[in-house]
Amino acid sequence: MKANALTKAYAENVFTIKTMRSYLSKNTYKTLMKTVLNRSTINAVIADEVADAMKTWALAKGATHFTHWFQPLTGATAEKHDSFIEPDREGECMMVFSGKELIQGEPDASSFPSGGLRATFEARGYTAWDPTSPAFIKEGEKGSTLCIPTVFCAYNGEALDEKTPLLKSMDVLSVQINRLAKLFGIKTKGKHSYPTLGAEQEYFLIDKEFYDSRLDLLQTGRTLFGRQPAKHQQMDDHYFGAIKPRVMAFMEDLDRRLWKLGIPAKTRHNEVCPAQFEIAPVFEELNLGIDHNMLTMEILRNTAEDHGFSCLLHEKPYAGVNGSGKHNNWSIVGPDDKNWLTPGDNPHENAKFLTIICALTMAIDKHAGLLRATVASAGNDHRLGANEAPPAIISIFLGEQLYDVIEQLEKGKATSSKKGGVIKIGVTSLPQLPRDATDRNRTSPFAFTGNKFEFRALGSSQNCSPSDTILNTIVADALDEICTKLETSIEKGRDFNDTLQSILQAIVKKHKRVLFNGDNYTDAWKKEAKKRGLPNLVTTPEALKAFTTKETIKIFEKYGVLTARELESRYMTYLEIYEAETIIEAECANTIAKTMIVPAAVRYQAELADSINMAKSVLGKISQVESKKLLAEISRELEAVLKNAAELETAIKSNKSSKMISVQHKLRTAVDNLEGLVSRADWPLPSYTEMMFVM
Ligand code: ADP
Ligand code: MG
Repeated sequence: MKANALTKAYAENVFTIKTMRSYLSKNTYKTLMKTVLNRSTINAVIADEVADAMKTWALAKGATHFTHWFQPLTGATAEKHDSFIEPDREGECMMVFSGKELIQGEPDASSFPSGGLRATFEARGYTAWDPTSPAFIKEGEKGSTLCIPTVFCAYNGEALDEKTPLLKSMDVLSVQINRLAKLFGIKTKGKHSYPTLGAEQEYFLIDKEFYDSRLDLLQTGRTLFGRQPAKHQQMDDHYFGAIKPRVMAFMEDLDRRLWKLGIPAKTRHNEVCPAQFEIAPVFEELNLGIDHNMLTMEILRNTAEDHGFSCLLHEKPYAGVNGSGKHNNWSIVGPDDKNWLTPGDNPHENAKFLTIICALTMAIDKHAGLLRATVASAGNDHRLGANEAPPAIISIFLGEQLYDVIEQLEKGKATSSKKGGVIKIGVTSLPQLPRDATDRNRTSPFAFTGNKFEFRALGSSQNCSPSDTILNTIVADALDEICTKLETSIEKGRDFNDTLQSILQAIVKKHKRVLFNGDNYTDAWKKEAKKRGLPNLVTTPEALKAFTTKETIKIFEKYGVLTARELESRYMTYLEIYEAETIIEAECANTIAKTMIVPAAVRYQAELADSINMAKSVLGKISQVESKKLLAEISRELEAVLKNAAELETAIKSNKSSKMISVQHKLRTAVDNLEGLVSRADWPLPSYTEMMFVM
């Protein structure tokens, strides 16, 4: 595709602002834009005209159906298609799409997880358009579908999705940022602030044939067995390496499909592990960034299929090598349209920047456990806290220089004169902070990277919404506290800079234990973190409890982001999903062991025993010590497989997740040992080498 054809095709399947302008009357367009800017709900008066315009546009693009597109708590997206057709009595039909259908849909909510909310209320739910995320068209092979991004609630208004609280948390953050802006003398009238998101997405590709012959991948998304090959990622020769032609063809196609949907895919490269890759977009307003990441995951899967691959979004498809994460790059745009996480070039801007850094430090320290809970899942447990992954301790990396600045801020007295090594708010300029990759700590779960924070604990398959909902809300709460103190003191006639200085100093003193620049992967850090009193919640069931603590309920009810009941329902839902996934894995492992591994081992064992006997009958007296040793070894491992499989069955019956996981681990060890002994020709599963290197 030539450059100008490419720009023309960009966002071709999106009902963009430009498209709206050309399809709508001036007044309707203006009203709709106001709705989008103020993040309010669309007014019923203009809904019919907007719907009609959308329909005309969509029909011209070959759409036959429309759907509200939403994000239930399953972690996936959901859609239920309605065709535009409306038959009349004469045997003909019209294509109809009303304002009412645009604004609100009524999908049957009864089969979506609700963690108990549904039991006491009607099964019906409703979806409502979020006009800040534009409608788009999904192309099918034969026809296309108009998709309308929506929130999804129960009839009493309780949230059944990830987007409702996300949008609320964005508003809550905007209010506090504007309040702080006012204190800094920044105009806020008619302006809203918003968080931004750039989600770096890691994934694996595997040849479809291998994928289809692995029951574990088909059922659980990860390999439950598989012996580590001699060469995997030790050579570091895959990271940023030349992209193989077949993968390149896939990536080209992927980018084009994303661009068509206005998803600003920007970078693509090989990741650390063989067969692992990454795609990252240009950052966008948070809710749109999340919608786009959800679509990116779907399009990754579909495009892979079309290229004879399968795309693995699981957090740990292969044991012993890198897992896949999602880096949630998060920042704030203030009412001055500036990025508030960019250190300024004068003392005034610096003060604003340092206030945000301190607010974040306070927020993360106070709610580290809750932030950890938002990334808790069966898949991510293999990445966080497990043997071969960074610990599940949430700490903040600021980099040497900014850390230094924070320490100087803590030391500096508001009354002291300007001297070296002390920061005085409103007076001192900050040193230039480096913004290149040299000062990056890849092991930190929450890192400052020059003009944004990067939350890296998210699993590759996860929806960013829970993490960002929490992040927005806890930062808003920290800012609320800071602003209240500032406002009270100013009322009493105290100096703004002096007050801010003492507020920030107190925050640093109290919360700097969450700051850590070192290597997060070491045991020394685990010990140090324990001394500092930072939580280390290793498993999902432990971590999820943070959703229903008193502190969590208090802050979420205070800002109206989630009620106690909604938090409880989320806790229940995520836990149920975790437990279901654990049982599916255990049952799948058991099936593979008994119906594929054991028969292969038995066949080979018999073959070996026969050959020992035959050799003896032909050759008479010869040494068969080593052959017998091999036979014994195989028999031992075979016994171990059978024994652990039986134990796993008992664990499944007992319904204890932790027991299932530990027994499954033992079963895996025995099976992987067998893979190193049994003839390659007899082994029933594609090997790690094939899956990771053949493409
Ligand atoms: P890396 O972190 O891998 O070195 P980049 O610095 O290019 O890569 O950024 C990674 C992601 O961060 C990209 O998706 C980018 O758009 C996003 N990003 C950059 N600036 C911001 C910002 N102000 N807010 C949110 N995301 C941002
Ligand atoms: Mg990054």
